[in-house]
Amino acid sequence: MDRYIEGVYDEIVARDPTQKEFHEAAYEVLSTIEPAVKKFPQYQENAILERIVEPERIVQFRVPWKDKDEKIHVNRGYRVQFNSAIGPYKGGFRFHPTVNLGVLKFLGFEQTFKNSLTTLPMGGAKGGSDFDPKGKTDAEVENFCTSFIIEVYRHIGQFVDIPAGDIGVGAREIGFMYGAYRRITNTHGTGVLTGKGLTYGGSLVRTEATGYGAVYFSEEMLKTRSEMIKDKSAIISGSGNVAQYAAQKLIQLGAKVLTLSDSDGYVYDPAGIDEKKLDYVLNLKNVKRGRIKEYAEEFEGVTYEAGKKPWSIKADLVYPCATQNELNEKDAKTLVDNGAKAVTEGANMPCTLEAIIVLQDAGVLYAPGKASNAGGVATSGLEMIQNSQRYFWSFEEVDQKLRTIMINIHKNAYETAKLFGQPGNYVMGANIAGFLKVADAMIAQGVYA
Ligand code: NAP
Repeated sequence: MDRYIEGVYDEIVARDPTQKEFHEAAYEVLSTIEPAVKKFPQYQENAILERIVEPERIVQFRVPWKDKDEKIHVNRGYRVQFNSAIGPYKGGFRFHPTVNLGVLKFLGFEQTFKNSLTTLPMGGAKGGSDFDPKGKTDAEVENFCTSFIIEVYRHIGQFVDIPAGDIGVGAREIGFMYGAYRRITNTHGTGVLTGKGLTYGGSLVRTEATGYGAVYFSEEMLKTRSEMIKDKSAIISGSGNVAQYAAQKLIQLGAKVLTLSDSDGYVYDPAGIDEKKLDYVLNLKNVKRGRIKEYAEEFEGVTYEAGKKPWSIKADLVYPCATQNELNEKDAKTLVDNGAKAVTEGANMPCTLEAIIVLQDAGVLYAPGKASNAGGVATSGLEMIQNSQRYFWSFEEVDQKLRTIMINIHKNAYETAKLFGQPGNYVMGANIAGFLKVADAMIAQGVYA
């Protein structure tokens, strides 16, 4: 790494030594944008790197709520408003026991570059809480969401900050939060939250968008090697929103999906997960809120591996769609040995830095999440546009726009990597392309913006 950039990175670590996930995300970006920083001296002259790694604002607050036995609990809530140079803050809320400031800073930082890549005017943010919705009743989740919004409502707004879902925040949680926001502010029809239900301002395809978008991105990567998704085998981790719809699109495009997982283990279905079996998963996860293990009890010939991840199953296409750092160097070596052709991140930062190097060195197509999972936030952007217009587009219209956006993100990352001398390096391409737009907007608006 260049000495100036290394100095910026060292300062990040010195300031917040415990924020490991944020260090990792910052390192990945800083180490790959070096050619752009060297080529254009204005970024160093304007201290863009020092400014871009520091969130514009962080809000931390307590979230008191009552459980079904009237016992009071206190969780910690956050909103990290990372960068608003190109548009209002935008990024999801995550409810999971592992949530802390380091995790949300990594996610907000990534979101800034991802949102820039979508071509839509959205800045980067992330928020959430260490609250765990798993095992809670609907009423308990409603209590928590209402208390969370009683604080958060004053920090968000359609022209300020537009949150959405993430791990642990799906249609149910967005519904409760939007209801609380509407009651407190006495406003309706604003695009203040995205991922809303279709009966109160949501967009068609938003639910499917991240998973579909990741598959569209991988389709474009495969095309560069004259390959297609049809008849390829695929392994997926996770069984939440992103995993479910990556699986659905892969099945539609003629791939054979072999695995799904949750935090307890994974299922391997050698016959392939078809549309009917996937319907079972959608009901199991979104309605019954059960465990993926039950899939193996429901269908014949399926094995369940407790406490393991699916990376040892041989497949052409790999989609990590659960969480950060779920695919390490050893897993990457296994994938390479098994002849994987492409690894496309549905989750944020699921591959460790060491794993990425193994994949890239072996010539495996590798798509970083900030490019390949940008379909979710892009469709959130489309939801905001529809809300502003007081109008709705059809499923086909939104899906077509999503596909076009994913094709353009791929093209932008691909062309940028080529321009900077590393064709096929999507990490470099996506980071530089995302960075340039935000950095130029920051310079144009001056030091104090
Ligand atoms: P979700 O619906 O809550 O599903 C998360 C899935 O990952 C679940 O199957 C969960 O299993 C599993 N998981 C969570 N933590 C895990 C851990 N520590 N170890 C193993 N498995 C774990 O969330 P999602 O919306 O699909 O998000 C998945 C990933 O995609 C996240 O990285 C998120 O930031 C990213 N992403 C999401 C969107 C979006 O639009 N939703 C957009 C861009 C990126 P359990 O049920 O057992 O916890």
